[in-house]
Amino acid sequence: MTAHGAAYPARDGDDGLARLRAELEHLRLLANTVPVAIAYYEAERRTCRMANRRYAEMFGFDEANIVGRTLASVIGEHAAASIEPYRHRVIEEQTAAAYEREVAGADGILRVVEVRLLPHVDESGRSLGAFVLIADITHHRRAEAALRESEERLAKFMHASEEGLVFHKGGYITDVNPPLLNLLGYTLDEMLGRLTLEFIAPEAQQKVAEVIAAAPETSYDSVVLHKNGTRIPVQFIVRTMLHQGELQRLTIVRDIRDRLQAEQRIQHLAHHDPLTGLPNRLAFTERLERRLAEASVSGESLALMFIDLDHFKRINDSLGHAVGDTLLKTVAQRITEALRVGDMVARFGGDEFLVLLAPRAGAPAVAEVGSRLLAAVGEPLPAGGVSISVTPSIGVAMYPQDGVTSTELIQRADQAMYRAKSSGRARFRFFEPGMAEAALAELALESRLALAVRQNEFVLHFQPQVALHDHSAGDGADMKARAGAGRLLGVEALVRWAHPQRGLMGPDEFVPLAEARQLILPIGAWVLREALSAAVRWRANARPGPGVEVPVAVNLSMLQFQTPGFVDMVAEALAATGSRGAMLELELTERMVMSDLGEVRQALARLREMGVTITVDDFGTGYTSLAHLKDLPLHRLKIDRSFVAGLPGDAGAVAIAHAIVQMGHGLGLQVVAEGVETAAQREAVLAMGCDGMQGFQLAPPMPEAQLLQWLRGRSAAE
Ligand code: C2E
Ligand code: MG
Ligand code: MG
Repeated sequence: MTAHGAAYPARDGDDGLARLRAELEHLRLLANTVPVAIAYYEAERRTCRMANRRYAEMFGFDEANIVGRTLASVIGEHAAASIEPYRHRVIEEQTAAAYEREVAGADGILRVVEVRLLPHVDESGRSLGAFVLIADITHHRRAEAALRESEERLAKFMHASEEGLVFHKGGYITDVNPPLLNLLGYTLDEMLGRLTLEFIAPEAQQKVAEVIAAAPETSYDSVVLHKNGTRIPVQFIVRTMLHQGELQRLTIVRDIRDRLQAEQRIQHLAHHDPLTGLPNRLAFTERLERRLAEASVSGESLALMFIDLDHFKRINDSLGHAVGDTLLKTVAQRITEALRVGDMVARFGGDEFLVLLAPRAGAPAVAEVGSRLLAAVGEPLPAGGVSISVTPSIGVAMYPQDGVTSTELIQRADQAMYRAKSSGRARFRFFEPGMAEAALAELALESRLALAVRQNEFVLHFQPQVALHDHSAGDGADMKARAGAGRLLGVEALVRWAHPQRGLMGPDEFVPLAEARQLILPIGAWVLREALSAAVRWRANARPGPGVEVPVAVNLSMLQFQTPGFVDMVAEALAATGSRGAMLELELTERMVMSDLGEVRQALARLREMGVTITVDDFGTGYTSLAHLKDLPLHRLKIDRSFVAGLPGDAGAVAIAHAIVQMGHGLGLQVVAEGVETAAQREAVLAMGCDGMQGFQLAPPMPEAQLLQWLRGRSAAE
């Protein structure tokens, strides 16, 4: 206490002393309460005259035992030396000094302190000592350091980020990183201080302004403008952050052009068929539904076409998928070209296409589109080095008559297409009520047909064909021909299905179905063998004597003819039945000889070498080019019975039949008229120069027993 007493002049008397003590006590209390360490050092001896508790304890002393110690012994030699310049300034220059230093306290904790030194000068201007005030600023400095670090980190991050970053305050740009400058094509100077909205595409500005005003933490897609005006779709991720000492808005600007492109690609993939580039089923159905909704308001009527290629599987199987793909692409292109703006086409799957026609003036206009599609798609096309022709079968359903939903319409169009197929393919059909039932019945028939194949429920009927001019028989030949006694050219084998419930069914009732379901292959193979066996039987058993050779004609379906190894199969059937090629005539349709699957010519040539007669059946109904016929190894043409039916009255039919005969003869082919029902027709075809005839007028198709009787009757008449 004495040391302290010396600093404060004593007053007179005990009262004065007591008051002084009380004041001192107050001062001590004050000194020990303030959050500052306080000490006083004498100038000359550099000893501590007084310290508050905080100061004393900071260096490991108490208020009493620190008094009289030198500065160096309190804070250490090293520290004392380091603060010497400040001490010097306070004592010698008598000005206040302040510095910061780190103090390893008596408790072992390193603190950052701010030290202030205040000079104590007497009236004569002599330095008596210095007051020392120490404030612990450790927390403050740490917070500052943390802030600095985070600013540095942010700065680093801004530069390191590949994404654009922009700080803005109240909508004004305060900082931008290089990637964003790159993205937008500006320099930093050009952007700083400008409104963010200036860089936003006009239609996106409102949203951005709203976000700036409401200041949420959010993310959304927007469009920014490059300096050159290019629009760049971006995603904004907006945060509020401390930057440059204040709360600012940080927006991450993410270039999403790649993402959008990828999304668009995915969209495209999801909605398009990669092969043909046409919209796919999903896309079509979506658009169809939109159109239907519009049509339900406008009252328009629409037509939906279901297109399926005939025998496409065969092409795929025989010529390979690459050719199949090329063909599908060509077909897609042809369909598209045959339509007009506003029509919609899609690939529905495999070889199926859908077309939605924009409103047209009623069914005739729709039918016209159908014919156009049939012609366009059916046009022969080069594929895999050969020319092939693939026809479509088309079903049409009309909105709203046939259905009002997309599912209904597609289903009905599909049913109509199915009918088009089963009525012979290469045609189009409008949906008709009852088709669904028919389709169902057909389905039943189909499964029954498969059973019929397994149980062999088929029989053959035979219809004779005779020559009209018997060149070997001298003058009376024509007379004989008129009497029905022309030389026998052969018999045509015509298949029937002995259906257990329905009775005998003609080929028109089940052959198209059998073709559609590939069942024609086992049926056709059976017909061939059975017909050849029959011919062999007749030769052996013919009455009145052996040696009667009756060639049989067998009808082929496209599918059979196109089956690889078909010619070998014929050779095997001939060998197995013990017959010769000369006893067999094969009837092909025009389409079969026309669809040049490369091997057609070769196959025909081999058959011809085997002695087989090759006939083009139903001639005149297809579109055979003469140039093509000329090159094929054929023997006969059979004029389609639809022309013969028009004879002799129908001038058109006469002209066509006449032309066929002329042309056939010109090509060195025999011409046979089929479907001759009347004597007048027979006269007519004879007059035209037909070489042979077949028809009810001569004889209907008959079971074997009846045919043999007929044959016997003829030979008896001769
Ligand atoms: P197609 O080859 O033109 O056979 C002649 C068809 O005309 C036969 O009908 C026959 O009964 C009929 N017909 C014969 N003469 C006359 C006549 O004077 N007037 C009329 N209106 N018709 C006559 P069918 O037996 O119903 O056979 C129809 C078609 O089925 C055949 O036409 C042929 O293309 C096909 N077909 C028959 N058998 C087979 C077969 O085994 N395989 C294949 N793939 N098709 C066959
Ligand atoms: Mg025939
Ligand atoms: Mg025919």
